[in-house]
Formats: sequence, structure tokens, C-alpha cells
Amino acid sequence: MLKKERYRHFVEYFSKNQPNPVTELHYNSPYQLLVAVILSAQCTDKRINQVTPALFERFPDAESLAASNPDEIFTYIRSVSYPNNKAKHLAGMGKMLVHDFNSVVPAEVDELQKLPGVGRKTANVIASVIYDAPAIAVDTHVFRVSNRIGLTTNATTPLAVEKELTKYLPQDLLGVAHHWLILHGRYICVARSPKCDVCALTWFCRYYERNNTETALLKAEALKLKKAKDAKKKKAQTTLHKELSKRSVDK
Ligand code: SF4
Repeated sequence: MLKKERYRHFVEYFSKNQPNPVTELHYNSPYQLLVAVILSAQCTDKRINQVTPALFERFPDAESLAASNPDEIFTYIRSVSYPNNKAKHLAGMGKMLVHDFNSVVPAEVDELQKLPGVGRKTANVIASVIYDAPAIAVDTHVFRVSNRIGLTTNATTPLAVEKELTKYLPQDLLGVAHHWLILHGRYICVARSPKCDVCALTWFCRYYERNNTETALLKAEALKLKKAKDAKKKKAQTTLHKELSKRSVDK
């Protein structure tokens, strides 16, 4: 199947079945989403949603975060992954947001990436979710699922995946495609053992096609070997019977 066809099927399927996907992180402002996305690196959205209510109550805006320090922030986020680093990033991010950006979360990916704790992935999430920019963030799910389905070819880095998705997907669908891929990766096309038996994408998924072709070929080869073995055994038995019959006649 041509890559363009896979993209067409991918867009058609999700546009019909999941037209309005949204992030599972809870937030009420650009600042809150920025904090939640920084915290979500290598951690689950569920865990982040458990810590953010108290965190946002204590630090409702960039100013309150800027006036705090990593030690205090740490006490609110100790249960997420890498809490020490993230507490430092949040403290620095709050200060920079206040001093360099007038407490307004920037819209440009390049500007966003100047903030402590904000890499390209986080910047793309903010640009796309808050500012509706044509950007797609590539996290572990997006990377894996794009590759398995066959939306990417030989893309070995998140940036290469981002470039390929950006090239083939309609600009106005980049933001939703990010959520489609994340949610599919989180619940169906999971990392260790993708749930292909309940997946609706099997008919255009490259991974499924390859795996099943290989399995079919292996089965056919095993059957061929078994038939050859059975024929050989039967031949040996026939020869033995003939020999025994001949001997009994000779007697
Ligand atoms: S068919 Fe399997 S590998 Fe392909 S997208 Fe679905 S779950 Fe993932």
C-alpha cells in the first residue's frame, strides 16, 4: 500500500470515529497547561492530574510560581517522575515567564523553547493546543504508532517523525492527529504488545501486514516440512511392509 493511501485511511478513520480528541491533562489556562505538560514528561497524565489541583491552588499563575523556589515546588510534585529537576524547571520557567514574557505564555515554538523545561515536544503541544498553530508534538506514543502504522519510513528521531507527519498530513489536522496517535498508542497500540486483535486499523497498518505475512509464510513453511516428513515416513513404512511380505513368501 502506498504511504499516501495509509495517510488517507488514517485521516478518514479517525475523522469519522474520533472527530474531537482532546488532551487528557486537566488545565484552565495556557499557564496551567504549560506547567502540566512540563510535568508530564516521562510520567502519566493520570499522575499529573492528581498533583496539579493542589499545585495550581498554591501557584495559580506565573507570578506566584516565580515568587517561589524549587524546594517548595518539590513538595507539591514529589510523586511525579524526576521531581527535583522538574521543580527547578518550574521555578525557572515561572521567573522567565514573568520577566521576559510579561507573564504571557508565548505562541512561537522558538520562544517557548527558551523556557526552562520546555523542549520541542512541549513547545509544539502549547503552540497547537493553545494557539491552534499547525504543529505536531512527537512523544513516545506518536513516534511508535506512526512508525507501526507506516505513516513514517526510516524516521529514527522525533524530529524526523515530526517532519514526515507535517509533510503528509493536512495542516489543519496536525493538532488532532497528535491526539489521535497518542490515544491510540495509550489504549490500543501499546508499546510491548499492540492489541491488534481489537484494533480497527489492521487493514492499512504496515506492522500488522508485515507480521501477518511473516506468520503466514512461517506456517506454510512448517506445513511443507511436515508433509515432506510424513511422505518420507510413509515411504519407509511401505518399503518395510513390502520387505516383510517378500520374506514371508520366500519362507
Ligand atoms: S494493527 Fe496492531 S500494530 Fe497496527 S495500529 Fe493497530 S494495534 Fe498498532
